[in-house]
This record gives sequence, structure tokens and C-alpha cells, in this order.
Amino acid sequence: NPTKTNQSAHLALDIGGTLIKMVYLSSDDNCSPDSQVKVSQEESNEISDGLMKCHTGKGTLHFLKFETSKIDDCLEFISSNQLCSHGDLPDKKQPSAHDRKLIKATGGGAFKFADLFMERLGITLDKVDEMDCLVAGANSLLKANNQEAFTYMNGHKEYLQIDHNDMYPYLLVNIGSGVSMIKVEGDEKFERVSGTSVGGGTFWGLGKLLTNCKSFDELLKLSHVGNNRVIDMLVGDIYGGLDYSKIGLSSTTIASSFGKAISENKELEDYKPEDMARSLLRMISNNIGQISYLNALRFGLKRIFFGGFFIRGHEFTMDTISVAVDFWSKGEAKAMFLRHEGFLGALGAYTSYQK
Ligand code: ADP
Repeated sequence: NPTKTNQSAHLALDIGGTLIKMVYLSSDDNCSPDSQVKVSQEESNEISDGLMKCHTGKGTLHFLKFETSKIDDCLEFISSNQLCSHGDLPDKKQPSAHDRKLIKATGGGAFKFADLFMERLGITLDKVDEMDCLVAGANSLLKANNQEAFTYMNGHKEYLQIDHNDMYPYLLVNIGSGVSMIKVEGDEKFERVSGTSVGGGTFWGLGKLLTNCKSFDELLKLSHVGNNRVIDMLVGDIYGGLDYSKIGLSSTTIASSFGKAISENKELEDYKPEDMARSLLRMISNNIGQISYLNALRFGLKRIFFGGFFIRGHEFTMDTISVAVDFWSKGEAKAMFLRHEGFLGALGAYTSYQK
């Protein structure tokens, strides 16, 4: 019974526009926290991470996500697993009021849902700044974990050894519903230098309308088997199959995403959902890769770390971003990805208990 095993869990939340990310520590390694609410197999695979257990030395750190629109599942999970008891906080941070329950929370939902948490669970959300949390989460992962950062290009994944004494500066690109680009120069030294509203929410939102997919994963799977050349206008389509070699563009370079749709007498239903999904994923990943590179260039940063749940460890997404960064930087800058991609903010909120 999981309700018996998690009495001393520390819990932190990142309540985003699309997803709620939860990080909690359980003192019992054998607990199975997903028995009370519906958590897909795939998500339950993400729950436990032995590596973080080593890091904390206190128990197992669990990673979980819920759709923000299904916040009731999240509340139910916290309640049925007793994730917020008085033992939640480190000794020195015990709340002063006798019956007060405080949990660290970041993201816009920490404001939006503050009343709901209080009404339903008697929990006060102790708000922590979103950018602070993203950076703290990324820094602590890069320091704690040798198998955290990796490159992904042409189907080849390679883990990187990050030298803790030579980590900074870097550009952190968090691709959530929207995108934030943060120049990180030290532990708490950073600046949000840019962002774009064309992000994960755009992919999922437009993709849903174009393909009628019912879930994000379905859309990703579709994109895996599609052919974007059916709908994207390529350099070769304009140049009669030739490269535009004078400026270094091959015939297969996308000249205009979705551009072929205007030149053909076709309706939406004449295009296969998988081709549109692939074209959309390419368009958005390419665009983010390019804007990231431009910002790295602005500040002379060679390393770009990508996080956020848009990436989802999806090969085609990572490949497209890597190729974009490589192409525009002429091989000078590197795109790197993080294993705990979507949990940077939640982890940052969790580490803020120590402050
Ligand atoms: P936010 O904090 O804005 O919610 P996240 O880092 O959680 O941002 O990423 C949200 C994005 O992740 C979505 O816009 C979508 O592109 C992608 N995503 C990945 N998995 C899912 C999922 N199961 N449901 C919805 N979106 C998902």
C-alpha cells in the first residue's frame, strides 16, 4: 500500500501550461506510487531513477507528469499517496504554523491553482521563480550526473562528460509550451535572453488540428513515418531538381515549410496526416534550432543545452535541432540534450528546499 510508504516524501511541482511535473523523494525504494491513479506505463517507467537516489542518499527520487488539464489526477495522487505530510520539509524548514502544509511549486500554475491546492488539500504552494528553477535544475543535473547530457546526430547518441569547473557559460533552451532561452553563467547567474511562442504547444496544437490526433505521442509517432517532402517546398522544387550551390543550398533543403500546399490543387484531406505531422515537427524544430543558434552567437556561447517536454527523447526532433545548430553555426556550436529534459523546473523547485 503506497499510502504507508511515502510518509517522509519531499515533493515539488512545476505546473506548466500543458504539463504538471512532479518530483518527490520516497524513503522506501520498493514503493509503487502509481497504483492509485491512472499513470501510463510509459510514465511509470520514468518514475524511478536510481541515479538520483545516489545523489540524495536519502531515498528514491521519483519523476512524474500529469496533463495540466487533468489536475484532479495530480491532486488525487498527492492525497492518496500522502505526499504532503508534515515530514515533507527538511528539519530546519518545518513550517511554523502547526497544521500548515507547504510545498515548493513553480510555473504559472503555482499562481493559477494556488486556491485549488488550498481548498482541496489544505496545501500552500510555496512559489519559486520559474527561471530560477530551470537553471537550478539544469545546473544540478549537469553536476550530479555523468550520464545526463548527450549529443544526438545522424542516429548517433553520445553521452558527454561535463567538466564541472568548465560548465559555464552555456545557453539553456527550454522547449515547453513556449520556448525560453537563458544565458547561464554560473550557479545563480543567468539572464533570459530570448524566447519564442512557436514551441511545443504550437506543435501539439497545430498538429492536433491538422491530423485529428488524440494524443501527443500519437502525433509524434505519425511524424516518425511521414514524408515532409510531400508538403514542404524544397530548393529542388524551385530549381527544377537542381541544387542552389552558389549559396550552399542542396536541392533537398526546405525552402518553404508547407509551401507545396499552395502550388497544388489539393485540400487538407488530400494530405496524409503523417506527412503533415513530419513537416510540422521539422518546421518547429528547425526554427527553434536556428533561433537558439542565433542567440548563442549573440553571446559567443558554444554550448546549447535543450530541455523541456517537447523533445521527449524523440530522435527525429533531436536530429533536426542538431542539424539546424550544426548547419547555421558551420559546426562551431553543439546542440546537447538532457536525459531529464522535462523535469528541470520541478527539480529546481525541489532543490530550493535546501536554501
Ligand atoms: P509546460 O511547462 O509549458 O507545460 P513542458 O516542458 O511540460 O512545458 O512541455 C510541454 C510540451 O511537451 C507540450 O506543448 C508538447 O509539445 C510536449 N508534450 C510531451 N509529452 C506530452 C504529453 N503527454 N501531453 C501533452 N504534451 C506533451
